[in-house]
Amino acid sequence: MDVEQIYKDANALLEGHFLLASGNHSARYLQSAKVLEWPQKAAELTDALAAMIRNAGIEVDTVCAPALGGVIAGYELARSLGVRSVFVEKVEGGMALRRGFEISQGEKVIICEDIITTGGSAFKAAEAIEALGGEIVAFASLANRGICKRVGSTVDAKHTCALPEDTPLFALDDFTFEMYPPDACPLCSASIGKAIKPGSKG
Ligand code: ZN
Repeated sequence: MDVEQIYKDANALLEGHFLLASGNHSARYLQSAKVLEWPQKAAELTDALAAMIRNAGIEVDTVCAPALGGVIAGYELARSLGVRSVFVEKVEGGMALRRGFEISQGEKVIICEDIITTGGSAFKAAEAIEALGGEIVAFASLANRGICKRVGSTVDAKHTCALPEDTPLFALDDFTFEMYPPDACPLCSASIGKAIKPGSKG
């Protein structure tokens, strides 16, 4: 599966001059929401992700996504795996399971995101599930930004990765983009226009 091509076809792999949440600049930006506009494409991607998880022999009862970004990917992955889907939401100091969702003692849970960058939100989601007695059997993501190490990749995790080393991360592909501090950005000095913030606002 050519994941990069699927993202390009959905205009989800943006090229230009972007201001990232970290404050750095980049020439490329992944907008997974654009791929997930198409339920058939989402299903194709999560079917492939589910196959990786099954082939690794991971047993799972439930997929949990951190809202908002992970919800669609998590729901589709649960459908592909034939299991339950829940999500956690941001609250003061972390994430919480609300809306009557429950986790039983020892329930095997995969935390699913659309994109893993440092894995910060996924880690907070995992903490919330573990506090309720769930067992985190894996992390999963459509795309991995190359900071955390995914199963099958030879690239080591960077020190900024928030995910625990002893829990596998399944992702379809690595998208490792060059990032520049604003005062050393070649795109700024080439004056191809001010960096724009795509994120959830754009
Ligand atoms: Zn720049």
